[in-house]
Amino acid sequence: MRKILIGTHNQGKFKEIAQLISKKTKKISPVKLKIRSPKETGKTFNLNSKLKANFFSKFVDYPVISDDSGLCIKSLKNKPGIYSARLAKKKGGFLKAMKYILKKLEKKGNRSATFVCSLSYKTKKGKPITVEGKVYGNISLSVIGKKGFGYDPIFIPKNKKITFGQMTKSKKIKIDHRFVAFKKLKKKVKTL
Ligand code: IMP
Repeated sequence: MRKILIGTHNQGKFKEIAQLISKKTKKISPVKLKIRSPKETGKTFNLNSKLKANFFSKFVDYPVISDDSGLCIKSLKNKPGIYSARLAKKKGGFLKAMKYILKKLEKKGNRSATFVCSLSYKTKKGKPITVEGKVYGNISLSVIGKKGFGYDPIFIPKNKKITFGQMTKSKKIKIDHRFVAFKKLKKKVKTL
């Protein structure tokens, strides 16, 4: 059976990426192999997903796929962006980070935001193939919904009335930034 390492320690991301990849491929987690995460030293989503693909590829001889993603909020100068995970850590969890963002947006007129996902695929000997996907939307007025993960409960995708946190997983994964990126990647990597 074909194997792929999904290079993330984030359970939410792992599940979403695993669902997008062919059923015929065995999905391996770095947690199972006791591989830690690399330091995210890149200044862009693409640099960080590439860096992760190169890092995880050192540990296995089959392909790896890695993701770097985050929430960019227009009126906050596109923050937290690549620092999305780090903001949650700094604030003591996602709920606190979301409340912090809502407070910051109270005085701003514009609530538009974009979820960005960079995916990198790398075979043992090849260079990473990197693509980026985006989903546009708005930040809700409060934290709504218990589904999903991370910042899902404050993001309302364009043309929808509910947050990602209220959406069933099967609906969300067909419209989100990871899906958009994955579709682009699949055009380049037919075996996915
Ligand atoms: P990183 O890519 O490991 O730096 O982490 C990205 C951060 O953005 C994490 O804190 C994720 O929880 C958050 N994030 C990325 N994609 C999503 C999503 O689809 N929904 C909610 N939060 C997300």
